[in-house]
Amino acid sequence: MAPRVATGSLRNLTRVGLDFVFPPVCLACDTETSSSGLVCVSCFSRLSHLVGACTRCALPLPAGDYADATGQCMSCASSPPPWAAARAAFIYEGTARKLVLQAKYADRLDILPFLAKAILQEGASLMRDADYVVPVPLHRTRFRRRRLNQAALLARFIARSSRQVRLIPDALIRTRATTTLARLRPDERRLALEQAFTVAASARGRLLGSHIVLVDDVLTTGATASICATLLLQSGARRVDLLVAARTVKLSDMAGADEYAEE
Ligand SMILES: [Zn+2]
Ligand SMILES: [Zn+2]
Repeated sequence: MAPRVATGSLRNLTRVGLDFVFPPVCLACDTETSSSGLVCVSCFSRLSHLVGACTRCALPLPAGDYADATGQCMSCASSPPPWAAARAAFIYEGTARKLVLQAKYADRLDILPFLAKAILQEGASLMRDADYVVPVPLHRTRFRRRRLNQAALLARFIARSSRQVRLIPDALIRTRATTTLARLRPDERRLALEQAFTVAASARGRLLGSHIVLVDDVLTTGATASICATLLLQSGARRVDLLVAARTVKLSDMAGADEYAEE
């Protein structure tokens, strides 16, 4: 299902066109900038890139010694996530957090190309051998409330950057709302979350033997991404990688923060 573009989103698209008339402004704070689609110097200084992160979970490594020969941290080496590699454009703080939240809750479509470009800079090596890009899905009720699926739009921009990589926008379907899971015990939540997603029958043929790049806006505990990656692998995908705009790195932000609670 193609993402529905709401009135607010159209206004923001119009805003891109109006740059010809009005001076371009920073995506994050509305300060004047030299060209549209960028952030100002001050907001740029509050964009934290992930330098020397684990190649598997995208968490920053204290030092190179903590990674094995493949670049993964000790935690990933001992209990690896189902995806093969993960890259994040930014740490989820400061300007990156502001951009992700504005795009998500204020229909700021004009922010998405900036985030997609940053994701591609980090994830170029993973895209090189990929066959398909698949977004983490948003449940229908949330889709209505939030109006657009940021992950789906990011996935579309990312797929467009490559000739050989195709987008499967609805390969994964969220079949039930996960907000109701908050009161369950952790093991019950895990099971319920697993049952909240399914692979679309129409996508199964393409998934067989393919290399998938799964796209989401933020990676926190990885619970949702794990389930999505596992489902894709169970459907015959050869490899699943993960690309996100921002990675939560603070333990305090992650403690008790499941994807279904943070959304
Ligand atoms: Zn700014
Ligand atoms: Zn790791």
